[in-house]
Amino acid sequence: MYPFLATKRHKLTTIGNISCGFCGSLWLISTLMAKPKVVILGGGFGGLFTALDLSGAADVILVSDSDHFLFTPMLYEYLSGEVEAWHIVPRFDELLDKDVRFIQSYATEVDLGAQTVTLPSYDKKLNYDVLVLTVGGITNYVGVEGAEQFSLPFRKLAHADHIRRVMVEVLDRIPPDMPPQDVRDQVTFAVVGAGASGCELSTKMADLLNDAFRRRALHGEPRVLVIEMSDRIVPGMGDELRAVVEDALRQSRVEIHTEARVVKVSRDGITFEHEGKQENLKAAGVVWTGGVKMGPLIEKLEVEKSKRGLLVIKPTLQLSEHLNVFALGDIAAYPDASPILAGTAQLAFQEASLAGHNIRAYLEGKELRTKHFEELGEALSLGTERAAVLTGGKAFGGALARQARFALYTSRLPTWQHRLRVGASWFFEGTTPQPLLPLGIER
Ligand SMILES: Cc1cc2nc3c(=O)[nH]c(=O)nc-3n(C[C@H](O)[C@H](O)[C@H](O)COP(=O)(O)OP(=O)(O)OC[C@H]3O[C@@H](n4cnc5c(N)ncnc54)[C@H](O)[C@@H]3O)c2cc1C
Repeated sequence: MYPFLATKRHKLTTIGNISCGFCGSLWLISTLMAKPKVVILGGGFGGLFTALDLSGAADVILVSDSDHFLFTPMLYEYLSGEVEAWHIVPRFDELLDKDVRFIQSYATEVDLGAQTVTLPSYDKKLNYDVLVLTVGGITNYVGVEGAEQFSLPFRKLAHADHIRRVMVEVLDRIPPDMPPQDVRDQVTFAVVGAGASGCELSTKMADLLNDAFRRRALHGEPRVLVIEMSDRIVPGMGDELRAVVEDALRQSRVEIHTEARVVKVSRDGITFEHEGKQENLKAAGVVWTGGVKMGPLIEKLEVEKSKRGLLVIKPTLQLSEHLNVFALGDIAAYPDASPILAGTAQLAFQEASLAGHNIRAYLEGKELRTKHFEELGEALSLGTERAAVLTGGKAFGGALARQARFALYTSRLPTWQHRLRVGASWFFEGTTPQPLLPLGIER
């Protein structure tokens, strides 16, 4: 039935049969009937969608360190209050049916030889027949002095809550009669990295702060900077989309600093180099969106890796020396993916459907497939009123793009039940941002 099981499992059941007569026979039957165990590490885009696809086809166990999925492309809208937590962080127990077991734990080690995973919160090692590695990346501070200690990351729901709280605390300290220049010095935020993430985040922060200034009748205006090492913003994107993003940054009054390399982050600001000169900037908060690297679980694995430390996989998503191990998403270097798709949810999401198909085929002894992954378009949320959408090679911006983005992302959320609930909520209750209110009234 499951060809790969004929070796390991069959040996075990035969021993059981000898030692315990009738019970052993029952065990023999039940073990032969038992479904193979597929363990999926990581409940993000790669892991959750693979688990949903495989539900019922095997004994599927999803292991993730938090109890919810996070729809990262809308973390910006969560920061601004345009969406609520339940829209973008549905709990696994709401998404998974009874055919998938969920274990909340942080996997610390994988033994590819023994086919086990170490979970500290679990009293024994978890064994698997098939393993799916999809633990995503972690923030890469690229060795910049003080960056890990003093800057704010932006990858999780808690990070968005933290940034919002810092902005509120800073605003709460400003008396209404403070002169504009002093206010500007106090309310300065720097976002490091002007990729899509840095541009989305800085425009959201700027719009929220500008709105708070009006509501609180503060003098002057806040200062939000986006600092980019290369010579342009959104370096991986085309010129047409870049123009829309640049326009949105201007409208949100975000200062763009390109060819500026951050060399130090401290408790009260940053130092960056531009044209050979160093500049110190006092900032109430520095947010780091600079890059992604592999976490310790992947770092420890002794298998073939790319220069960036990603797992080198076959076009079927398998590790070449461990065909029962599949890897996808941000930790895997897919041979045929366009560079623009690397490190994106849209790649992980498409790979999950290939993983689902190939794991079934592997279990059934059928031929595995490969796939060419498509670029599904881009949709950036820019400030609280605008977005930029690239579809069919054409870029457009403004309020219409914002609506298009909401519509698009409704269709990308996991499970049709969740999509329906969230879609109805956005349609009937709206997606108005939540202002930065004084602490105590703030959400
Ligand atoms: C703020 C933000 C916005 C983004 N916006 C976009 C966008 O608009 N479009 C786009 O295409 N991409 C976007 N991305 C990138 C996208 O989120 C990733 O490419 C995608 O999530 C990768 O999927 P994954 O399954 O590889 O990893 P993830 O989605 O990161 O999932 C990995 C999961 O594994 C868990 N985990 C990690 N280590 C362990 C462990 N040892 N044991 C157990 N669990 C573990 C993590 O907590 C996480 O839940 C964004 C990323 C961020 C951070």
